[in-house]
Amino acid sequence: MTLCIDGHEFQYEIENLCRVFFPDQKIEAVQNPEEADVFTGIAPCSGGVRVHVSVRLNGERKNADEMIPAREADPHEQERRMSVLLYGLLSQARGFYPQWGILTGVRPVKLFSRLAERMGENEAARYFEQKLLVSKEKTELCRMTSRNQQEILSIPQARSFSLYIAVPFCPTRCAYCSFVSTSVEKTFRLIPDYVNLLCKELRHTAEIAAQLGLVCDSVYVGGGTPTTLSAPQLKQVLDTVRNHFDLSACRELTVEAGRPDTVTQEKLDALRQGGTTRISINPQTLNDQVLRAIGRAHTTEQTLEAFSLARKCGFNNINMDLIVGLPKDSEDSFQRTLNGVVGLNPESITIHTLALKRASRLSLDPAGPYSGDAQTAQNMLGYADQNLLASGYSPYYLYRQSRMVGNLENTGWAKPGFKGYYNIFIMEEKETILACGAGAVTKLYTPAPNRLERIFNFKYPYEYINRFSEMMTRKDRVKEFYGSVSD
Ligand code: SF4
Repeated sequence: MTLCIDGHEFQYEIENLCRVFFPDQKIEAVQNPEEADVFTGIAPCSGGVRVHVSVRLNGERKNADEMIPAREADPHEQERRMSVLLYGLLSQARGFYPQWGILTGVRPVKLFSRLAERMGENEAARYFEQKLLVSKEKTELCRMTSRNQQEILSIPQARSFSLYIAVPFCPTRCAYCSFVSTSVEKTFRLIPDYVNLLCKELRHTAEIAAQLGLVCDSVYVGGGTPTTLSAPQLKQVLDTVRNHFDLSACRELTVEAGRPDTVTQEKLDALRQGGTTRISINPQTLNDQVLRAIGRAHTTEQTLEAFSLARKCGFNNINMDLIVGLPKDSEDSFQRTLNGVVGLNPESITIHTLALKRASRLSLDPAGPYSGDAQTAQNMLGYADQNLLASGYSPYYLYRQSRMVGNLENTGWAKPGFKGYYNIFIMEEKETILACGAGAVTKLYTPAPNRLERIFNFKYPYEYINRFSEMMTRKDRVKEFYGSVSD
């Protein structure tokens, strides 16, 4: 599609909104408004500015405009009103009304909580619905999520942190994933060296944390699929954590056991003995045909076996991830999946919406990129939200990514007492995250003054191994950061 921008600097925001309605089209900038499928312009007029939006679809052009008085015409308001006009024309033209309205940011709950603090919850909800065109359902989801995370957000102190450990290996690559860019089979031989260096980085990080008097609130081992490691390797990593970090105040140690085909009795025992309190087993779907379409090399039966084995090993805090919008899935099949997972009674369930990553196999399919069906995904989420609420789960964290089917969201749901601490800390950016491993990003946070700084580790295991000492030097920035803030 072609886009013409005139007299304003909101190109980024307007492109994002256009992408919601044209997810699989490339947006090309043009100078001539007559040639543009979408035109947005702002021009001065007597007493204020005039916002003009025009959309051409199926040979027909529709226009909308609005005059904003000078006293209201700050840049934020100009952008908002232009987006509202554009949303109106595009939703009519496409016959699709995205539930997040004109909100394209990734952390809607953060925005909701900020507004609620300033104007009260009811006003914040009104603002979401009336000014940002967010649906009643999504506004309510934000309100519940914001409430549910308040208690956990009051935990972090000036010197507390969570530890993230990255294990960027998977047995095979899912069709929707762009996470591991090289063939996972090729990187397998790097695992022994990787684990040794990861443990070295953990020891170095523990020394820094101890020197600075930092207190560990939670530990999260993610990936990739951490249970791709062997039982002795998992033990090595977890022993390093327990022997070098002070975990006396730690509330949670999560390990993602994402792919059911990597879960064995031996590994679960290693996790339990290593102090793991929470694991995640991720079916994504309970439909084998869908599993094949997304390149997951496991079956529904393996998911059920892995779950039952984890229960037998004593895990009483298990999360399960599902995805809406997958190829070959349907509303009926998704409903069966959700009912099946709820029937297992895990302590938390995370419902993701498929994100259409450019480098994934689904996007690079020679037969044409897969784009999903926005309305179907929206209906699936609606079903999940209603049924999870009715089954005793509450939403406690929520985020969005770019290029999600229908511009929808990912939501974590938990039974009372089983919210994942780390998920809230990382999403709301209210606590330092010390991160180790390839692709890990350390986030240094201080509440007063409100500052957030990032330190990036090398992304791929090969670079991580070969440039390890360079990365350890970067970690010294943690000391400088805390040296420059007073509690
Ligand atoms: S398990 Fe996750 S990280 Fe691994 S290939 Fe699949 S989507 Fe990517």
